[in-house]
Amino acid sequence: MAGAASPLSGMPRRSLSRSVEDYLKAIYSLEEQGDAVSTSGLAEALELQPGSVSGMVKRLAEAGYVEHERYRGARLTQEGRREALRIIRRHRILETYLSERLGFSWDDVHEEAERLEHAASDRLIESMAAALEYPSHDPHGAPIPTRGGTVEPNSWTTLAQAETGSRIRIRAVQDDDSDRLRYMEARGLLPGVFLIVERQGPFNGPVTVRLDTFPGTIQTVGHELARKILVETSDAPPTTLPASEAAPD
Ligand SMILES: [Zn+2]
Repeated sequence: MAGAASPLSGMPRRSLSRSVEDYLKAIYSLEEQGDAVSTSGLAEALELQPGSVSGMVKRLAEAGYVEHERYRGARLTQEGRREALRIIRRHRILETYLSERLGFSWDDVHEEAERLEHAASDRLIESMAAALEYPSHDPHGAPIPTRGGTVEPNSWTTLAQAETGSRIRIRAVQDDDSDRLRYMEARGLLPGVFLIVERQGPFNGPVTVRLDTFPGTIQTVGHELARKILVETSDAPPTTLPASEAAPD
């Protein structure tokens, strides 16, 4: 039997329905956020009624893609995780290709990739990956799973969880809302940017950050938006003077 790390290309593949692929992807991303995957959480993520979701989760369990425990929610099996990573690889390669080769802007690629990820052949996807010289991350900073079904582990948290006074770096942003991406871009909140957390508002209040790469620029980020920004704590020294020491205009 093929192990999880072996290339998938040589294996015969039945094609999954679009909705099965969307469910596996949604369960994967909820698991990644550290949440127990409840029917209601999944319904919210997929914008569906909880009733239809529980029926589908049962079918996914029967097909061997998820394990479902009554009071603990759904969890991907090894096979389910492999399928989820396969579809995520397709999505992220498509986004990268659209952005780097066809001139789409980063706020404009997600919807196209959502459609094409189910339709494009493996051959097309792999040709795109090769043309891009096997990119490691998509335009939103998310790691692209390998063809063998592995993905870079990360210890990222969200900006909403970052501690006051910490210096952090934006690694990725959630890409499912074009308006949100444009809003973040206009404020310099992009993957790769370093931030100092000036203040974490209590009771899920706004986060005040100072952009390290644009001296003196302070941004207030609402809690909901901060939850969509994935960050890692940075040990590197600041590259600029703190705002208070910068020369006045
Ligand atoms: Zn996307």
